[in-house]
Amino acid sequence: MSASLKAPIRPAIHRFRLGEADVTTILDGAIVLPQVSPPYATDMTEERRAEVAHENFVPADKTENAFTPTLITTGGKLVVFDTGWGALGHDKGAGNLVARMAEAGYAPEDVDVLALTHCHPDHMGGLLTDGEMTFPNARHVVGRVEFEAWSTGEGIPEKRAHNKELFDKIVAPVADRFDLIEGGAEIAPGLFAEEGFGHSPGHMMYRLDQGKDQLLVWGDVTNHYAFSLRHPRAAIAFDDHPEAATATRLRVLDMVATDRILVAGHHMPFPSVGYVEATGDSYRWVPLTYQNWI
Ligand SMILES: [Zn+2]
Repeated sequence: MSASLKAPIRPAIHRFRLGEADVTTILDGAIVLPQVSPPYATDMTEERRAEVAHENFVPADKTENAFTPTLITTGGKLVVFDTGWGALGHDKGAGNLVARMAEAGYAPEDVDVLALTHCHPDHMGGLLTDGEMTFPNARHVVGRVEFEAWSTGEGIPEKRAHNKELFDKIVAPVADRFDLIEGGAEIAPGLFAEEGFGHSPGHMMYRLDQGKDQLLVWGDVTNHYAFSLRHPRAAIAFDDHPEAATATRLRVLDMVATDRILVAGHHMPFPSVGYVEATGDSYRWVPLTYQNWI
């Protein structure tokens, strides 16, 4: 007998209980970038990037960018954070959120609130399916600053010209379905919006408050657990307003490390949930293990 090699198996759905809430993370997909920079650590020399890759046990000549929306059920409401790529991602192995939601026991009609962190395509590309709202019964929320920037084009950098076209095609036609919110808004019982501007003009985070248990859905505050989170001052080509993005990154990393807040991050390694440890003037991603099952 000779054992044959099997196809790799990669987990794509993860769920745990936090206080009185359910938190589910679902891998929308992952793409391989044929280089590290751009987009990551664009201000490091190639040699330094290779050192950082080596220190973090990842390749120096290519990277993976993975996309993980978060679902939270709290107070009888199902909230989905970001849509993944939708049909825009189907030719690159992404756009699997809705299919995997079905595996996790959720129909699109079940969604009570769809909350966008921001309007980059990996976060809003799945808003429509065949021209109809993907989550037809949901209240849709997005930050006012974010929505107005993309609607007017003010503060949108030239490198996001294609993104602006996608916004005009995907989001603008259903603008009346959106409630524009400010930081502090409660979007579901115990779920609050928090400003985290910079990665995009009005990038929003969302905090689940379960008393002693807190979870921050931080969107794209950091874009890579090594090149960005371990090196929070490094330039990231994905950031629309680099100075504000760096300031937000440093503020939020300090907050979640100091207060030991659990984080769900769209681009953190699946299941995309973990803690942040401060190490000198840097930070380290500490993946969630068994804390929420005991
Ligand atoms: Zn993103």
